[in-house]
Amino acid sequence: MTRPDARPVASHFVDGAYVEDAAGTPIPVIYSATGETIATVHAATPGILERALASAERAQVAWAVADPAERGRVLRRAADLLRARNRALSELETLDTGKPLQETLVADAASGADALDYFGGLAADVTGTSIRFGEDWAYTIRRALGVCVGIGAWNYPTQIACWKAAPALATGNAMVFKPSETTPLCALKLAEILIEAGLPAGLFNVVQGAGEVGAALTTDPRVAKVSLTGSAATGRKVAAAAAGGMKHVTMELGGKSPILVFEDTDLEDAVSGAINGNFYSSGQVCSNGTRVFLHESLHDAFLDRLHARLADVVMGDPLDEATNFGPITTAAQADIVMRHIATAEAEGATVAIGGRRLDRAGYWIEPTVLTDLSDDMTCVREEIFGPVMSVLTFADEAEAVARANATEFGLSAGLFTRDLARAHRVVAQLRAGTCWINQYNLTPAGMPFGGSRASGIGRENARVAMDHFTEVQTVYVGMGRVESAF
Ligand code: NAD
Repeated sequence: MTRPDARPVASHFVDGAYVEDAAGTPIPVIYSATGETIATVHAATPGILERALASAERAQVAWAVADPAERGRVLRRAADLLRARNRALSELETLDTGKPLQETLVADAASGADALDYFGGLAADVTGTSIRFGEDWAYTIRRALGVCVGIGAWNYPTQIACWKAAPALATGNAMVFKPSETTPLCALKLAEILIEAGLPAGLFNVVQGAGEVGAALTTDPRVAKVSLTGSAATGRKVAAAAAGGMKHVTMELGGKSPILVFEDTDLEDAVSGAINGNFYSSGQVCSNGTRVFLHESLHDAFLDRLHARLADVVMGDPLDEATNFGPITTAAQADIVMRHIATAEAEGATVAIGGRRLDRAGYWIEPTVLTDLSDDMTCVREEIFGPVMSVLTFADEAEAVARANATEFGLSAGLFTRDLARAHRVVAQLRAGTCWINQYNLTPAGMPFGGSRASGIGRENARVAMDHFTEVQTVYVGMGRVESAF
């Protein structure tokens, strides 16, 4: 396949235009399918950060009092532009991440457009309440927070930028977005498109860089909120730094989510759910159900079907739409995944399927299924963030629930059963922010998404995200005389 040119116009998008400052540390953009450098950007210098924050602060004042219906129209026009350019944006997402075009054509710019449409539609519906106290009364106003910072992970660069920008902008905030240093390209396209859709300059800025740029943004006194998508370790650091300035936070972090498969399940659906929840995006999905708990009666049949279904994996050129499984996004992450597989074997696990790194350029690891596991093994406890499914068995429902909850994380959970009462009884006991019954990993824009415990704070998407980008101002209205003691 001919590879499109991935090089951006410049590293950053600030105050409505591309800007470069080559004094910043060079960051190579590596195409993970081949290991080749396909572009280079520069980390933001203090001068770039200053321009981004100053323009955001300036532009936000007028945006906060703009007609909310107009804010919504801008977002919906941006959604239309994303959809119209879906193929080019998907190709760029594939080059940025390595994910196959078969996926990016349906999951990335498309999901971003859905979020822009959704929050564009809600923009004019930000309302307060009124409360009576006899003659007196009070009312509330939902106010924008001001300048918000978005910090992204590398697995869904377009989607993450849109999921953060859309509710922030709909409610009258400005955003400075820092993509992951390993996937810096896609957010720049969103910035370009928002300007084309009519967003005033300065309201959505993209600055590049690694953790230190994110840290500088997090602690800047002009910043009112930080919304991070990343690992639990980074989340702890960013939340602590934000707390120093009493800033709002949304933390979308990692997980080690369970999928429970009961004995009355439609087996083929459960296998499909487990495949989607472990191998989509080569396993680099925060909400993946990497602990698959099977009722013990299903073990052999489930593994037989997994074997058969994984024979259809095509690990080819990600730009070829026939390819359905891509590489790991970075060399470092591929090493982490291979170390996890080796540790699992050393601790007594069986590699039932896959387990090998392909002998070719790039960072390719086979979809891998581990069996003969116990809950205390490293691969069952720690997030791997790669294509590694741990298969465990249980004897009864109470045991399944207790073991599913025995984790510090709480991002997601799934269960497969035909028993309606059991489905709702079990889901009510699962300690996870986002759960699926007879489905896995679908995240429409109208559904709150996020985790509990070590998996994060706050929710993205749905109406609740509008609350997370606003705060309540209360106004007491005195209707009579003012009484005082003296
Ligand atoms: P990461 O934590 O290494 O980095 C995330 C982002 O934080 C990057 O942009 C990075 O530059 C920045 N960063 C690092 N240190 C920082 C600091 N001190 N201050 C401010 N910013 C800092 O995560 P990653 O490896 O890019 O992504 C993988 C992780 O993200 C996994 O744990 C995965 O589960 C999680 N994730 C969660 C969700 C979700 O919605 N819950 C979605 C995707 C990924």
